Amino acid sequence: MSKELLKFTLSEAKEALKTKQISPVELTEAYLKQAEDIRDLNSYLEICHESARESARKSEKKYANGTARALEGLPIAHKDIFCTKGIRTTSCSRILSNFVPPYESTVSQKLKDAGTVMLGKLNMDEFAMGSANLTSYYKPCYNPWGYKIGEKHLIPGGSSGGSAGAVAALAALAATGTDTGGSIRQPAAFCGLVGIKPTYGRCSRFGIMAFASSLDQPGPLTRTVKDAAMILQNIAGYDPKESTSIDKPVPNYLSTLNDSIKGKRVGIPKEYNLPGLDKEVNALWKKTQKWLEEEGAIVEEISLPHTAYALPVYYIVSPAEASSNLARYDGVRYGRRVEGKTLDELYELTREEGFGEEVQRRILMGTHILSAGSYDEYYIQALKVRRMIYQDFEKAFEKIDMILTPSTTSAAFTQEKAPTDPLQMYLNDIYTVTANLAGLPGISVPVGLTSQGLPLGMQLVAPAFEESSLLNMAQHIENKAGFPNLYEAGLWNLRAN
Ligand code: GLN
Repeated sequence: MSKELLKFTLSEAKEALKTKQISPVELTEAYLKQAEDIRDLNSYLEICHESARESARKSEKKYANGTARALEGLPIAHKDIFCTKGIRTTSCSRILSNFVPPYESTVSQKLKDAGTVMLGKLNMDEFAMGSANLTSYYKPCYNPWGYKIGEKHLIPGGSSGGSAGAVAALAALAATGTDTGGSIRQPAAFCGLVGIKPTYGRCSRFGIMAFASSLDQPGPLTRTVKDAAMILQNIAGYDPKESTSIDKPVPNYLSTLNDSIKGKRVGIPKEYNLPGLDKEVNALWKKTQKWLEEEGAIVEEISLPHTAYALPVYYIVSPAEASSNLARYDGVRYGRRVEGKTLDELYELTREEGFGEEVQRRILMGTHILSAGSYDEYYIQALKVRRMIYQDFEKAFEKIDMILTPSTTSAAFTQEKAPTDPLQMYLNDIYTVTANLAGLPGISVPVGLTSQGLPLGMQLVAPAFEESSLLNMAQHIENKAGFPNLYEAGLWNLRAN
């Protein structure tokens, strides 16, 4: 019986709780059990049994006395980059392996205030740098779809790999993630989930460990578009504690989900039609365009001429910001300290032991980029091109309402087949980084399976603060795609052999 409770999506579970068909305590127990049962995926770093049970009991009372809040009693989990008061938060870095935050991030606080039950903390790439969850100090985590095709080491994508794996394996109703260059959308696509990166400034970054502050944005990974709307509703909004948070009213995302998209103009950027694009991805991209046309949308080709510069710009801006953000982890101000004979040696040993290879690479790149001789040549140039990328979108949105692209160039790959060349790995973000550079909202929706049986996702990008339109069009795609129901697909119950 307990596993049957996993069949409800977030919105269905809310209904079932409201109508007293199920109780928060039994729902939480089912999820705690499932989180334990999928230990071999390594999605969870920590499962918070006791505190989860305590909030579930509190929710039980709230339902009983009629004071249930928006997400009362719904079990979710957080990427380990969100500071959780009194609960170890590491960003999956050795340097923070002993860090217990004295405060809570705004996003996790808002979800707590909405009544969610927090199940635990989830694996990720170290400091969110990666595309396959292979850079975590706590070892890689895996994609439950791998079980379906007999590949134990299928990667879940990154950097929010633990979030995607846990939701796909039905070990959380939803999870938080962060997206600096694609880290919500890409793992969502690889795991058959919906992932939304809101407009920069829509959700507060307070209490989230910074990677590249001008690009980072938190958001949810969920089973359905409606679930994504429900979570976003509760995490969006102005935060006086965060300087780039924007004071703009939050619309009701649920009320417009099923609005007609008749007459909406959808742009297909011709620059995204890359020669290396997987045939199956391309076919599904075309199919999605047809679905939207059947719903009355007008699909047309557009041009985003500076697309080719997006990755180079991203890999200048993001390491530059990261090198500055990560300077605080020196064993003196923050981080696990390794003593040395001199102060310089203390810094060197602390950072050499505390950071993994990829993080060190980014810090070195970023420090070089910001050094006196390179600053003008690289950093300033990159900022100028970033502006041009933004203007491409601005111009496109004069004529169209939404942009449709694939979320990734292929389906998930196995750990053994993952690129060993970092530059090759960086290409993974080719379709997603542009939205971060331009600060725009993007969503990945699962649209189908490859012939091998692995999920593929399509991405929609909208003008700033148009999350409602984004979710609305995504809902139409979801309705048309008929993507397998994750409970029925049975991923949660499979074991790798
Ligand atoms: N994969 C990209 C990177 O490694 C994006 C990561 C992210 O969005 N956090 O930087």
